[in-house]
Amino acid sequence: MSKNKEWLASAGTNTKLCHTGYEPSDYHGFVNPPVVHASTVLFPNARAMETRSQRYTYGTRGTPTTDALCAAIDDLEGSAGTVLVPSGLAAISVPFLAYLSAGDHALIVDSVYSPCRHFCDTMLARLGVEIEYYDPEIGADIERLMRPNTRLVHTEAPGSNTFEMQDIRAIAEAVHRHDCVVTMDNTWATPLYFRPLDFGVDVSIHAATKYPSGHSDILMGTVSANAKHWPKLLEAHGAMGICGAPDDSYQILRGLRTMNLRLEHHFRSALRVAEWLESRSEVARVLHPALPSFPGHDIWKRDFKGASGIFSFVLAAGSADKVKPKAYAFLDALQLFGLGWSWGGYESLAVRVNLDDRKIRKGPEDGAVIRLQIGLENVEDIMADLERGFAAVASL
Ligand SMILES: *Cc1c(COP(=O)(O)O)cnc(C)c1O
Repeated sequence: MSKNKEWLASAGTNTKLCHTGYEPSDYHGFVNPPVVHASTVLFPNARAMETRSQRYTYGTRGTPTTDALCAAIDDLEGSAGTVLVPSGLAAISVPFLAYLSAGDHALIVDSVYSPCRHFCDTMLARLGVEIEYYDPEIGADIERLMRPNTRLVHTEAPGSNTFEMQDIRAIAEAVHRHDCVVTMDNTWATPLYFRPLDFGVDVSIHAATKYPSGHSDILMGTVSANAKHWPKLLEAHGAMGICGAPDDSYQILRGLRTMNLRLEHHFRSALRVAEWLESRSEVARVLHPALPSFPGHDIWKRDFKGASGIFSFVLAAGSADKVKPKAYAFLDALQLFGLGWSWGGYESLAVRVNLDDRKIRKGPEDGAVIRLQIGLENVEDIMADLERGFAAVASL
């Protein structure tokens, strides 16, 4: 970077998001970085080509566009290096393949993002890695599960769909007494509300598809490592040739500029909806870490700076045969909410969560788990739509 940006280190979150990652004077003063479309990069002579003695060598190994995004993410995460991958799922599979070998044992949180479980149970199992799932609330007791060949402990807090909190610092401390890498899927909080590396995590994983994108139109993942674990991650990323695309990288950097403003709105609206749902007789339980009634609330309050816009509630069924009909009636009556996967965009989404793959943390039996992503719409309109859902359930 050509301009001195030391002042940025102590700046507030919004200031940082506006100015991190890229220096306009590096490219003729244009405020945003150029989108560099590239495979081939030319060298000035044969020696430079042979020794690869220049900053850029080939499209898969980074461009000024991907560098701008990686620098911004490193700044937010406090990491030594970041790689970009084409989806949030690849942001899990790439580091797992970087750090695990045949004969290793890996501990995965049972409330994990479900396609991660699929990857572990199929491809990692086939490659000879032994997978074991653990209770999200295990804390320091995770040390009892450590074996001589345990090489990776994967965390995700809050957990996918049911939002169990994890004592990340206690887990990282316990497993670091062994030769083991700690990874964390931090998609829910983003580095604005939780910085995994500050809590002892080695590798922070994000589906940038969610809040960094913010508009439901981009798939991308980021993986950020501390200095100790960065070389192996970079090596694996290069070996596999799984890289981030230029236009997507540009859009994610663009999304970061407004992410804090959007997150504040999601946080506020989602909490208001969650509190309102708690007062409804149709609702058995609301699963939102920022609610004092939630079992993991104290950890959230201690470790996190905020909550994003996604949480779940249990739609009271009354009897087992009513679980599915009530869930379908509720969801089908919604007009503002879209029924769709993913989240982090500007629009509200609802989905019935399937927890059949859980081994330890089974799904509730008193009703369906409905997951809501609270978008940027007016919160009164969001609640009016949920009223439509409850009205449809009332007749069943
Ligand atoms: C969505 C999500 C992913 C995967 O992101 P994609 O870009 O959709 O592959 C990974 N982890 C968590 C927690 C997610 O919610």
